[in-house]
This record gives sequence, structure tokens and C-alpha cells, in this order.
Amino acid sequence: MSEFEFPSDLLHRLREAHHVVVLTGAGISAESGIPTFREAQTGLWARYDPQELASPQALAHHPELVWQWYAWRRDLVRRAQPNPGHLALAALEKMVPRFTLITQNVDGLHQRAGSQEVVELHGNIMRTVCAANRHLVTEWASPPEGEAPRCPICGSVLRPDVVFFGEPLPPQALQTATAAVQTADVMLVVGTSGAVYPAAALPEIAKTHGAYVVEINPLPTPLSSLADVILRLPAGKALPALLAAAWPEHTPERL
Ligand code: NAD
Repeated sequence: MSEFEFPSDLLHRLREAHHVVVLTGAGISAESGIPTFREAQTGLWARYDPQELASPQALAHHPELVWQWYAWRRDLVRRAQPNPGHLALAALEKMVPRFTLITQNVDGLHQRAGSQEVVELHGNIMRTVCAANRHLVTEWASPPEGEAPRCPICGSVLRPDVVFFGEPLPPQALQTATAAVQTADVMLVVGTSGAVYPAAALPEIAKTHGAYVVEINPLPTPLSSLADVILRLPAGKALPALLAAAWPEHTPERL
């Protein structure tokens, strides 16, 4: 028995959907211990604004600071585990004929939870590339103090393979995501503040093309006004309960 009551229209739409699309943001990983950008950063990093660290300018002017910040975040990601929200989305993928998971997260937790069709709009923090040619690099020499490591192939500065603030999204990922939302019957918008574009435009495109839009977020966002249903709950509670309510006969006991 679920402790939550979901609108019967929502359960019906999910069960009948041909294509379910999910957009996730930092909120779905908050319950895995990875802080969102809107929460105050903790510890040593509390006084820095992420927008000033995740930028090409910061990498150019303060490479050591940027590398230290990413080392701290990579360590958090390495130690984090997928939570019941990630696991429920991996299970949902198996329930519906077509499924696309679009994430703004860079932590790879959806893949670690077992999701197959993942479109990473903002890259992946565990990959390292060079700034000039995007050479994918796994090993590099430690640079002198105060410098960023350099690409062993072309010598340009190395960086995490993530989209910095102000940079364009990977075109292929954005194209796949835009095409997916245009054919979605149901779109779940989970744990995103709806403040970072162009990802924040995807629910609106889905809605324009006829999708039933569901927001899962404990707090209101600019996207709330276009949602057909709003679940003001943490993703780790809402998603397993929603799955169990829509497919009581199939959901694994433990998510
Ligand atoms: P955001 O930080 O702007 O917003 C997070 C949203 O999640 C908020 O609306 C908040 O109310 C909601 N939220 C918090 N806890 C939740 C929970 N338990 N369940 C559901 N919702 C919850 O995040 P954003 O919209 O993803 O945009 C910020 C950018 O920062 C993204 O582009 C993303 O790439 C990056 N980012 C990624 C990670 C990560 O990979 N885990 C972490 C921080 C930031």
C-alpha cells in the first residue's frame, strides 16, 4: 500500500503511454548526498558561487581553484550511490514501450542505477577532455603548482567534460532531447529548478506537442505553471511510490 494518493488520470496516462520522457536535474541526486547548486555549498566551498567556478573564464584565470573544486565534486560523486529515485526511473524504463531519460546531471548516477537510454545534456564530470580539441584523456602529468594539467596529445589545458555556464550544449544531445519531447505522451520533470536554459525549455516543447507534464519537486519552480500534475515530494519518495501505484503487479519489492 502506498502512503501517497496519485490522481487516477496520472496513473492511467502513465500506463497507456507510448513514449515517456523524463527530465532530471540536480534535485534527484540531492538524496544521494550531492548538493544542488541552489543549496548553499558546504565546507570549504561555501563562499564560492558555482557560476563563477564552472566557467571558461575561471579555468583561464584560476585553473588551480577550478581543478580543486572539481576534484572535491568528483570525490562526492565517486562516493555517492544511486537512490530510490534513480532506481525507480531505471525500473520505469522497462515498463513502457519507449523511454528517454534526459538529464542535466553530470554525476552518472542514472547509468549506475541501470538506466539505458540516458541523454546527458551537460556532460559527465568523471570524463576529462582538453579545452582546445576535446581529446578524451585518462592520464596526465601533475603540473607545477598553480597550473591546470595539460593534454598529452595537443598541450592545451585539460578540463572536466561538462558544460560550463554560458557554453553551448552538445548539439547531438540537445537534438536527441528536443526530438524526444516532441513525441512524448507523458513527461516527468524531476528535481530541476527550471532556471538553466535550454534544458528548461524542454517541458514547454513537450506540452506544446501534447504531452501530459508532471512536476516532481518539493518546491515551486517557473515550470510549475505548465504542469498538469504537481507532486510536491522528494524524488526518492515520489518516484518509487508512483511506479508502485501505476504498476502494482510489476514493481520490484525493493527499489
Ligand atoms: P538546481 O540546483 O538549479 O535546482 C535543483 C532543484 O531540485 C530545485 O528546484 C529543488 O527544489 C529541487 N530539489 C531539491 N531536492 C529535491 C528532491 N529530493 N527531489 C526532487 N527535487 C528536489 O539544479 P538544476 O535545475 O539541475 O540546474 C543546475 C545545473 O547544475 C544543472 O545544469 C546541472 O548540470 C548542474 N548540477 C549537477 C549536479 C549533479 O550532477 N548531481 C549537482 C549540482 C548541479
